Amino acid sequence: MADLIDGKAFAEGLRQRVSEQAAAFAAEAGRKAGLAVVLVGEDPASQVYVRNKGKQTIAAGMASFEHRLPAETPEAELLALVGRLNADPAVDGILVQLPLPAHIDEQAVIAAISPDKDVDGFHVVNAGRLAVGQAGFVPCTPLGCLMLLKDRLGDLSGLEAVVIGRSNIVGKPMAQLLLAESCTVTIAHSRTRDLAQVVRRGDIVVAAVGRPEMVKGEWLKPGATVIDVGINRIAAQTEGKTRLVGDVDFAGASAVAGAITPVPGGVGPMTIAVLLRNTLIAAHRNIGLAPPSSL
Ligand code: NAD
Repeated sequence: MADLIDGKAFAEGLRQRVSEQAAAFAAEAGRKAGLAVVLVGEDPASQVYVRNKGKQTIAAGMASFEHRLPAETPEAELLALVGRLNADPAVDGILVQLPLPAHIDEQAVIAAISPDKDVDGFHVVNAGRLAVGQAGFVPCTPLGCLMLLKDRLGDLSGLEAVVIGRSNIVGKPMAQLLLAESCTVTIAHSRTRDLAQVVRRGDIVVAAVGRPEMVKGEWLKPGATVIDVGINRIAAQTEGKTRLVGDVDFAGASAVAGAITPVPGGVGPMTIAVLLRNTLIAAHRNIGLAPPSSL
């Protein structure tokens, strides 16, 4: 049986380190590090994410600034708010919760965020910095996956890594991070031929597809380390109930893999913990301090 990679425990440890360093930052800077979160509209899942981000930001000893705008907010008004947050010295990180309502151009909004406050790492400047190996901000979910992999495996150099999914938010930055760790990286996607054969190469497999239990145990190389990013809600056996599953068939994969992240409790808790870490790093850089190495 594969070992469980406990993302929940790792995320708790990271949040603890962030809290300690946030207190040290506040003592040195004379103010708390600050994260502004902007939510447009009333998407229920987004409301939950934003609430959790706010709570965890405050619990880590940082300032949380929440901006809730109605769904019909014009794009120009949202861009003006982003402009004010860019200029606000109390705000170190800015996160605009996606998805945005259809009448707003997401790329235009992301482009308006100052790259030095873009703690989600979605701005093209930060994507470019990641691609060329400069310090910037890396999207939280893939960076969390990398932390779990390094914690489990140590040096990743020379390992075969297969990333399934090529989104800007998870798949592409994940592949860049693994390449920077000197893995031999394959990116598989919806047009990949014979996915099972490709996945079998992987000493590391990261699944970020959004298809419940798609990756089967028999696709895996025995002993592989499997990171399941997927969060899919499916009908449970009890009528009327739902349950969360990943993109990997957990039972099948556990019989073959060396280690695997569960869903829930694997990658999920890492995302906000890394967001807090990125915000604290932004706060240090914004006032010319070196970010703490323990993060
Ligand atoms: P996305 O829809 O933007 O991208 C999915 C990718 O999967 C695409 O690049 C597509 O090419 C690929 N794909 C689709 N069908 C495929 C197939 N049959 N075979 C191979 N590849 C296929 O999704 P995303 O934003 O990257 O998210 C992926 C999953 O991760 C979702 O389940 C999402 O909920 C989850 N997610 C979790 C977190 C977290 O905090 N844990 C964060 C972001 C996303």
